[in-house]
Amino acid sequence: MNINVQEYLSALNEFTRRMDSMTQIYHPDNEIIFKPVCDHLGVSRIDTHYVPLIGKPVDTVIYGAEAPKSDVSITSKEIAQNGNVTEYTLYKKQGTPEWDNDDKQTLLGFIKIMFIIHGRHAVIQMAKRLTYGDPQMNVGNLAAFFGFVKRLIEQGRVSEFGTCRFNIKRLSMYNRNFGRDTGTLMMQRFIDGLRPLTENNVFRIGGDNFNLLFRKEKFEEIRAYLTGTPIKTDLVYPEEITMSARVGLYMCTEDDKSIDDIMSKITAASEMARTLSKDGCFVFDDDAKARADHSRMVESQFYAALDKGELTAFYQPKVDINTGRVIGAEALARWIKDGRIIPPIEFIPILERSNAICQLDFFILDKTCKDMKKWIDKGNEGVKCSVNLSRMHLGDEKLLEKVIGIIDKNGVPHDLIEIELTETTTDVDFDELRRIVNGLHQSGISASVDDFGVGYSSLTLIKDLPWDVLKIDRSFLPNGSDNDEQKHIMLRHVVSMAQGLGLKCIIEGVETVDQIQLLKDIGCSYVQGYYYDKPLPKEQFEGKLLAGYKA
Ligand code: C2E
Ligand code: CA
Ligand code: CA
Repeated sequence: MNINVQEYLSALNEFTRRMDSMTQIYHPDNEIIFKPVCDHLGVSRIDTHYVPLIGKPVDTVIYGAEAPKSDVSITSKEIAQNGNVTEYTLYKKQGTPEWDNDDKQTLLGFIKIMFIIHGRHAVIQMAKRLTYGDPQMNVGNLAAFFGFVKRLIEQGRVSEFGTCRFNIKRLSMYNRNFGRDTGTLMMQRFIDGLRPLTENNVFRIGGDNFNLLFRKEKFEEIRAYLTGTPIKTDLVYPEEITMSARVGLYMCTEDDKSIDDIMSKITAASEMARTLSKDGCFVFDDDAKARADHSRMVESQFYAALDKGELTAFYQPKVDINTGRVIGAEALARWIKDGRIIPPIEFIPILERSNAICQLDFFILDKTCKDMKKWIDKGNEGVKCSVNLSRMHLGDEKLLEKVIGIIDKNGVPHDLIEIELTETTTDVDFDELRRIVNGLHQSGISASVDDFGVGYSSLTLIKDLPWDVLKIDRSFLPNGSDNDEQKHIMLRHVVSMAQGLGLKCIIEGVETVDQIQLLKDIGCSYVQGYYYDKPLPKEQFEGKLLAGYKA
């Protein structure tokens, strides 16, 4: 035939230019792109037979799928550096002149060019997979999630979708108990089950943290899947385990204008899932938005508020029910912002997420010492005050030094200060608690067990440390409910056991005269509760300190 080299080269030029801008190797436009070159070469159809080193061979028609396989063809095997083989077959168009040796050389040259282009595509695809994908789980990564959400926002379609951030529960336990390979396999299967529900829009953020994008109508199915789905383990026992995740969900709206908006909502929701939800699943709604705004306000304004003097201590009297005398007080933090008193429940849990709570505790201790010093100077020598220390202090090696430093700086006698700490169940924390309670004891500062009866209280743990005071939670107090009889029995025993261990008992949250009578019967003299007073501002407390209450 003798191909017209000049014309063929210019067609080839155009061919390589267009193939270069192609995003996929097997593109619907291939027919148009291949046609001019193939016409010059007298080719009607191109087949490939791809044999990867691992996996099954794949047959593809890359040009002329409609054309029959003619009797005359030329075939060449190309081997890539990684060992994968591609066999190209070019079929001669019927009715065109025979191919001579020169033509065949040109055809083999064309196969080489296709092979190089295909190789280049494969490299680009791999780079994309590595940039936007997670090879282990075969899902997208954070960059892919960002890209996808950004496109949806640009196209004005984001409100059709819901999204979530989830963390697989107990994965490290599965790794430990069954081995890492089984752990990974279970995670893969758990993730695979989400593909059909999300049209494959699963993204790994790192470790066992993932994001999803799904059509809103799939919400219930996804929620049900993530809160508990049986997964095969391939072990003899257990054959199956119900896996679940901690999930923060959010239904996107037209108002979501940036990826940051959406990310901050699912991140906040997954935080809230940790603390606020029973099944580990939390949906970010208007309520949650108000909560998240409030958290942000607390986090961003707390330190400035300390400087501005917006934080202060209120004092709740502790009273001897037999004499009505104020025997001391608990200092409780209050944030007075724009004339409104923010109760601790609204900011302490937020400060406990960071070191900020420790700053607050030291501040309240300092403020309490300053107030006490004034009362002492006025001649009121006996009032003992307690201050709360959060668990977040455990692990601070300098804690004792800091506490004693604040007390001494203000010139308050050690025996007038009591530090309230809550119990702990873990061994590490217990060792820390031992160090602190012993240290306080040696310095002559009292230590009290706060909230006894909340959580896993145990007198066994308490007898091992030199505590001075047991503060019994109000959940032990009969209050007109069905199990009052039981509460009564437990309270009596706890009080007598604590007193037997040499601890002073204080009952918190006493509200009624019946409760006071009961405590008198049991022989427990000290109470703190609304029956006498709420936590009071300093000046009001000073009044009570002098006057006392009716016995
Ligand atoms: P808590 O240490 O158990 O403090 C006692 C809480 O019970 C106080 O709530 C008090 O107002 C409330 N209370 C007292 N008597 C009664 C009663 O008769 N009935 C009822 N229903 N409640 C009563 P408050 O002041 O809102 O403090 C809540 C919690 O915040 C405290 O519980 C404590 O855990 C924490 N907290 C307060 N101030 C500080 C602080 O300076 N540092 C730390 N780490 N935590 C603090
Ligand atoms: Ca307390
Ligand atoms: Ca308490």
